[in-house]
Amino acid sequence: MPLRHDFASALPGMFLDWTADPVPHPQVLRLNRPLARELGLPDDLPATLLAGLDLPEGARPVAQAYAGHQFGGFSPRLGDGRALLLGEVSGPDGRLHDIALKGSGRTPFSRGADGKAALGPVLREYIVAEGMHALGIPTTRALAVLTTGEEVLRENGPLPGAVLVRVASSHLRVGSFQYLAAQGDAEGVKRLADYAIARHYPHRAGDYVGFFADVAAAQARLIAQWMLVGFVHGVMNTDNMTISGETIDYGPCAFMEAYAPGTVYSSIDRQGRYAYANQPLILGWNLARLAETLLPLIDADEARAVERATRILEGVAGLYQDAWLTGMRAKLGLDGADAGDRALAEEFLEGIEGADWTLCFRRLSQAITDDTALRERLFKDHWLDGWLARWRARLAPDAAARMDAVNPIYIPRNERVEEALAAAQAGDMAPFERLLDALSDPFTEREGLENLALPASEGFGRYRTFCGT
Ligand code: AMP
Ligand code: MG
Repeated sequence: MPLRHDFASALPGMFLDWTADPVPHPQVLRLNRPLARELGLPDDLPATLLAGLDLPEGARPVAQAYAGHQFGGFSPRLGDGRALLLGEVSGPDGRLHDIALKGSGRTPFSRGADGKAALGPVLREYIVAEGMHALGIPTTRALAVLTTGEEVLRENGPLPGAVLVRVASSHLRVGSFQYLAAQGDAEGVKRLADYAIARHYPHRAGDYVGFFADVAAAQARLIAQWMLVGFVHGVMNTDNMTISGETIDYGPCAFMEAYAPGTVYSSIDRQGRYAYANQPLILGWNLARLAETLLPLIDADEARAVERATRILEGVAGLYQDAWLTGMRAKLGLDGADAGDRALAEEFLEGIEGADWTLCFRRLSQAITDDTALRERLFKDHWLDGWLARWRARLAPDAAARMDAVNPIYIPRNERVEEALAAAQAGDMAPFERLLDALSDPFTEREGLENLALPASEGFGRYRTFCGT
């Protein structure tokens, strides 16, 4: 695995040289062979190399520095507290991909925490990230899960330790810009912006306002995609919002089952700041924080810089709405675009409140001719006949097939994910593999996988997720 260290060479001051902690017994529990091949890597990478212990030639592992607004409060120095960037590989597509570790031990950014990761959350990130990828949503990828042979201590006792090997088109975040801007390092911000442009938006060389507009558009499209599949990220802090527009940091995230706009899973999000329906608003808030760091680059005249950035920020809601409506038209199988489509979509959402988001959309294709399966899912159906009549008049040719190609039947359902993780911790990877297999082809309904498509059983109760686990 020939590794480059492009980031470390280009951006002094944005990292600390650091190495992974030795672990007693590193073993590859799961390797994503198709992804390895996609990156032009061998598909039998050894555990010691993946764990960053036996470094390939040219490697220069670093802990990245970044700042961030967490739940609205600013921390000038967060950084990789339990992660390392091993370096980059240049894929067959000619683009750079970061190879990074999560759970590789303490770094100078760890503060009080142990720098480790437990197996359950690592496998959870693997399955959700790969599920997101198969859904066509930009995301970091999971290359491998390693068990370490050591235990990590968590609230409820010791758990098996693990390391996730993660691939990203980069780990640059809004918080990376904030880190330098907060130190008043204008030159550093410019260097970082130039680097981010070269890596992600090369057609914007020297055009910082264009760069900001592209990041805003990429993040707006991303959040629209989350909303369309019912994904709740749970911790949309500025250190978790990438410049590339990829989903990153699968901590307390979860897929919504019963549709409720206020859905929150994270145990620490008591105010519902990152609730499902708030995500598009937080998108704008986070982009405003990025804009603040770029003002001196946008225009030497501060008032003019603010004006230009504001113009883009004011367009973000529209970008998001357009992406959402385009996606919703596809989910509903509509023919072309009509002025009434937004209202049609909103009435559908109102009608399915409390019902399973994923299955209501998936069963809608059957309702072209027979609405039984959809009606079965609903808690109220007084609206349905009138709505179906208007909707049927708007359908595209081949609507059913088109809808089934964008409305998944399999998503990472919370109860199934928890079962798979519990089995894996007890040494049985079969449920994990079965779930991952279904999620890797989420639009094709298959016999024998019925229980993976069902909402949580009543006994499952209210789902709670935890950060930094
Ligand atoms: P996150 O909520 O995962 O985005 O993490 C926020 C910050 O906490 C980052 O700086 C992480 O590196 C750090 N962090 C989270 N968990 C740990 C841990 N177990 N050990 C050290 N740092 C951690
Ligand atoms: Mg993070």
